[in-house]
Amino acid sequence: MFEALAQYPDHLALEGEILAWWETEGIFERLREQNRGGPRFSFMDGPITANNPMGAHHCWGRTLKDVFQRYKALQGHELRYQNGFDCQGLWVEVGVERELGLNSKREIEEYGIAEFAERCKQRVAKYAEIITDQCRRLGMWMDWDNDYYTFSDTNIEYIWRFLRECHERDWLYLGHRAVEWCPRCGTSLSQHELINSYAELTHPSLYVRFPLKGRAGESLVVWTTTPWTLPANVAAAVNPDAEYGLTKSLEWWAVERNPDAELTRRVRGRELVGLEYEAPFEHLPAQEGVVHRVIPWDDVSLDEGTGIVHIAPGAGAEDFELSRVHDLPVLTPIDEAGRFYKDYGELEGRSTEDVEGPITVELERRGLLVEAGSIVHRYPICWRCSTPLVFRIADDWMIRADEIRQPMLDANATVEWTPDFYSKRMDDWLRNMDDWNISRRRYFGLPLPFYPCNSCSKLTVIGSLAELRERATGGLEQLQELHRPWIDEVPIRCDCGAEVRRVTEVGDAWLDAGIVPFSTLGWQSPEWKEHGYATGAAAGLTGADLPDHAYWEKWYPADWVSEMREQIRLWFYSQCFMSVTLTGKSPYRAVLTYEKLLDEHGREMHRSWGNAIDAAEALENIGADVIRFMFCEHVPSQNMKFGYGPAAEIRRRLLTYWNSVKFFVDYANVDGFRPGDESPGELQPLDRWLFERTEQLVAEISEQYERYWTPGVMRAFDSFVDDLSNWYIRRSRRRFWNSDEVALWTLHRALLRSVQVIGPVMPFLADFLWRRLRTEDAPVSVFLEPWPEARPRDEELLREVGEVRRIVELGRQARGDAGLKLRQPLRRLVVQGAGPARRHSDEIAEELRVKEVEFAPVEAMEVRVKPNLPLLGPKLGKELGAVRSALEAGEFEQLEGGGVRVNGHELGADEVLVERRAREGWALAADDALTVAMTTELDDDLRREGRVYELIHRVNTMRKDAGLELTDRIRLTLPASDADLLEHADWIKEEVLATDVATDGGSEPEIAKVS
Ligand SMILES: [Zn+2]
Ligand SMILES: [Zn+2]
Repeated sequence: MFEALAQYPDHLALEGEILAWWETEGIFERLREQNRGGPRFSFMDGPITANNPMGAHHCWGRTLKDVFQRYKALQGHELRYQNGFDCQGLWVEVGVERELGLNSKREIEEYGIAEFAERCKQRVAKYAEIITDQCRRLGMWMDWDNDYYTFSDTNIEYIWRFLRECHERDWLYLGHRAVEWCPRCGTSLSQHELINSYAELTHPSLYVRFPLKGRAGESLVVWTTTPWTLPANVAAAVNPDAEYGLTKSLEWWAVERNPDAELTRRVRGRELVGLEYEAPFEHLPAQEGVVHRVIPWDDVSLDEGTGIVHIAPGAGAEDFELSRVHDLPVLTPIDEAGRFYKDYGELEGRSTEDVEGPITVELERRGLLVEAGSIVHRYPICWRCSTPLVFRIADDWMIRADEIRQPMLDANATVEWTPDFYSKRMDDWLRNMDDWNISRRRYFGLPLPFYPCNSCSKLTVIGSLAELRERATGGLEQLQELHRPWIDEVPIRCDCGAEVRRVTEVGDAWLDAGIVPFSTLGWQSPEWKEHGYATGAAAGLTGADLPDHAYWEKWYPADWVSEMREQIRLWFYSQCFMSVTLTGKSPYRAVLTYEKLLDEHGREMHRSWGNAIDAAEALENIGADVIRFMFCEHVPSQNMKFGYGPAAEIRRRLLTYWNSVKFFVDYANVDGFRPGDESPGELQPLDRWLFERTEQLVAEISEQYERYWTPGVMRAFDSFVDDLSNWYIRRSRRRFWNSDEVALWTLHRALLRSVQVIGPVMPFLADFLWRRLRTEDAPVSVFLEPWPEARPRDEELLREVGEVRRIVELGRQARGDAGLKLRQPLRRLVVQGAGPARRHSDEIAEELRVKEVEFAPVEAMEVRVKPNLPLLGPKLGKELGAVRSALEAGEFEQLEGGGVRVNGHELGADEVLVERRAREGWALAADDALTVAMTTELDDDLRREGRVYELIHRVNTMRKDAGLELTDRIRLTLPASDADLLEHADWIKEEVLATDVATDGGSEPEIAKVS
């Protein structure tokens, strides 16, 4: 007996049941054991930040990772299954700051860096556990107790090794430059952190007068949207080629920017260069000694402002560049927290926003304000805390990118990207990448191992913990792990003998994630250390080993990685950078990438908009299999709309498959069918077709998995389920009623195979069905059964039945268009263009309820051709009339390619409008190759048969509603008005399992069970 299936699947319940069963039976461990020593498939997991529970969007990547790992495992590959957590850096810090209600670096320092670090570790431990539970629920099979944590000392040491390599190549330098700065986080941002981080903000828009020295009453007029930069002004730039004019009120503007003004003088910009002016805040101590002058700058825009640009090199990137060209002083007005330094007078200690009002008032008071308004513009904000960014001059540690650019491009050329155009996106990023800004002025992050010596000015870069121990002059006893504040208490001895302290900066978090192909696989580890990865902050969190170099050789590079597209400039980039530096080659051979998750209406998901769905909520309400189905069906290069509406639609579609399995189980149980290896009898043509169709499914789906293309997997599965349910089962119903074991055997085999191949996508449903369908000698789980081998197929048979199905589809379409129900038999069907389907005229007749099928040219089609007047009018001139009436009369000949010959003219396809339709009395449908037409006229016999079909349908519905078993017999009573249908009594009896049919005086048919 097969265990019966419910009417509808309860996805949530069955997933719970399977999850518990996997656990108690140790299915995953058994799979790993089974594959040990098999061919390797190396997958490297991009670490998820352990800083929050998962959102629905995380389920996308996690699904894809699990699908392909399961597929490869089913093929007998050995896998590592190591999950990774990203654990340090600003994300975690900002999370803890919020938790503790801290809002500045000063408050963190008051709280205590050691205590703050402990809180960061606690937060990571907490969310790593929550994320793990959510991934398990999603069905993700990973080696959960052996995760890597990027804050382990091992990970950090490997990054140190990389940084030392960079130093040896002379790539490392301390850059003094203008950087985008978050005043709340108190650190600069690097290029990859700036993309897409903008908001529409309102800022002041001020036109300000700079009085010229030695030119009585004359002023330059500048425009600024950042008044806080005016106290740091040192120059004014003009476009040397542009024309400037002096207005009656003695103001200089670019003529183009003030076209209506009456001008008393006009000069080229270059004539203004060198003039000196009084800056509005030159009385401040910071401005002492600065000579303010006009400089030339070709890039001064004439599209906005006044054509004269105020230059503050300490508060703008381009300004800073100009300071180098023109040797301008650089005044840095604000500190790390975005507050004015003390030589800025009454502005001291105030933020850039706080000073906007006072500065405007002061300009007004001194008669320097020409006009004040406001502007709404796109402005960069911090991606972590949304604070508007400012420019500051800062010393940041940088890695030079120029030398590695080409090797990285070469490495990327060896990578297979899916979809393939992302390869170009990666190239674009690499071509344009700036030097890598790796330093962050924060607390809980990778400590940069840089020890600059003040005495001899040598920079020592420490490459390992052992080296640190060797060179330390003290503080080792308190070094619990490689984090601040402990690491800061360990000075080293410089080669010159001086004692040197570490710089206080920590590293960019993408260093942490980028090193994992080395740190987790044991690159340059002389020996295997059991649980050796659980060092430093990771101690107690994981049992992961630190493998040895031989292991790294086996598993590097990864065969495959998969993350979202954003990672091109993040993880794919940092990993590639570090790998090419250390080994000269790409760390991955193939990449699958995907876009963004939107809500079901296509809007971005935001917690504050109330439309975000977190993973827990999605899993509880939708279930893992349906979520996975949705992600797999979606084309990854497009944003995906996710929500409960689309999920309900998937659940509905899955019913067809469920019903097919249920159909089998129900009939197999009625007959006590027990499937064996061989068919119990000779396969009929339809069985042979399903057999071949099943082989085709296995081949198609395997090919799509090999391509890492889940939409192709889902398409193949969908079309198979349609063939299975709407062709094989429907065409074979009578055989199942008659307990035909060959049909049951064929269907059983097809179902088992389909369960196997869809297992990676819907592991819960697959194992649930496998456990019901499997034979006793088969493994208990579908994941322990080897992947089915695709055999050579009978392509001809597949084409033949494919054509039959197409003819039937077109026939249905023709009926639908003509408003003829399928239950109403018709007299005649003509098919044009059919090949091997000709052998199946009986099936076609039955499917389309027609009495005769004829394979011949369809003459039921009327082709009407009209002239395309805009083209033909000019071409034919006065002959147009004659051509038109010939066309109307049908006196034309159709030519290949869609044109016609008429009245001695050959007209091209674009010169005529061709309309095809059925002649009166016919229904018609066509595709490129096939045309199908049916007569629509009905006679009494046809009408009566139509009523019999209606009756059969109605009675079978009544049987179902009455809860009768498939095998129950009934007695059927018809109203007198249906007496004429008794002519077909035998037919009716057979179709509704009636022992007899009679009429009485009632008005409706009635049924009674025969006991
Ligand atoms: Zn910030
Ligand atoms: Zn020194």
